Amino acid sequence: MKNNMKILDYTNYYEAVEILKSGGLVAIPTETVYGLAANIYDEKAISNIFVAKGRPSDNPLIVHISNINMIQGLVAKITYQARALADKFWPGPLTIILPKTDKINSIVSGGLDTVAIRIPKHKMALNIIDKLGIPLAAPSANRSGSPSPTSAKHVYNDLNGRIDAVVDGGVCEYGVESTVISFAGDIPIILRPGAVTYEMIRETIGDVQIDKSVYSKLEIGQKAISPGMKYKHYSPECKVVIVDADAQDYIEYVNNLLGEDIYAFCYEEDIPFLKIPYISYGSKNNLLEQSRNLFDRLRYLDKINAKIVYVHCPKKTGIGLALYNRLLRSAGFEVINIEK
Ligand code: AMP
Ligand code: MG
Repeated sequence: MKNNMKILDYTNYYEAVEILKSGGLVAIPTETVYGLAANIYDEKAISNIFVAKGRPSDNPLIVHISNINMIQGLVAKITYQARALADKFWPGPLTIILPKTDKINSIVSGGLDTVAIRIPKHKMALNIIDKLGIPLAAPSANRSGSPSPTSAKHVYNDLNGRIDAVVDGGVCEYGVESTVISFAGDIPIILRPGAVTYEMIRETIGDVQIDKSVYSKLEIGQKAISPGMKYKHYSPECKVVIVDADAQDYIEYVNNLLGEDIYAFCYEEDIPFLKIPYISYGSKNNLLEQSRNLFDRLRYLDKINAKIVYVHCPKKTGIGLALYNRLLRSAGFEVINIEK
């Protein structure tokens, strides 16, 4: 067991570079969620990420770089469309999967022959990578399975005693993980929706698909294109159920529920009409506010010992699709559909 983790901030965050140089693990802020960073060329440090998180070893890590030139030598080729997306959305919440070179250790790629890469938008993350001059592997800095961390406090609660430091860069701008798009096959395919939306990608490169696992559980025996998709994820201890209904039907449904420690996980606009306890995850038309709040509020449910929550289903377009996808997985795909 390591000692208490160091909490660095904007006055001393360059200490992170020294820790990373000597093989340590540092949680860094990004615009999506906090990432648990290690030098991609330090095999021991990379293995320690999996240990600290309790992450299955076949779940690959995203490689973070600070400028487009750093991609050279990491990928075997870059398609025209991938380059167009990188030019438009980097630095930003988009991860691009391409065929890898031998420079990428198979521990990083989870044994796959591809690698996931992105340039994050947070200044502290970019400065740390720049100063180190080496790409960082950085999966979300949470215990595997639990909601991703969107503040340094979340990281501390999950990983204190297991990693060397966290750089406190404030609350994450988007609060959901990056969009993941794969260029491993013939047609680009979104494996995980995020703040760079399906609509934005379509507008930039035309043809793009959304993987089935974004909406539905893998069938037994079905192979996951993205290994992360087969694991339980984003789950608080509390049971989560999604209610797909308009406002009136949602309110009527939850107001008729009986039992203790049952909460509505709702929009602000629902609150005046609710007869049961509630946690709001934002205003109904403010998708960015909802995504920024989502994981923090899911974590809060455990703090107050909620036993079961009924979620007012988010919109399924734009960044709403990312919220819907994370909530589906928190709910183990349990959805109550109330016909309109
Ligand atoms: P996280 O690091 O927690 O943000 O999760 C990264 C996600 O990207 C997981 O769902 C991984 O399975 C996925 N991923 C990373 N690398 C690859 C890859 N080479 N092929 C497919 N999915 C990947
Ligand atoms: Mg994760």
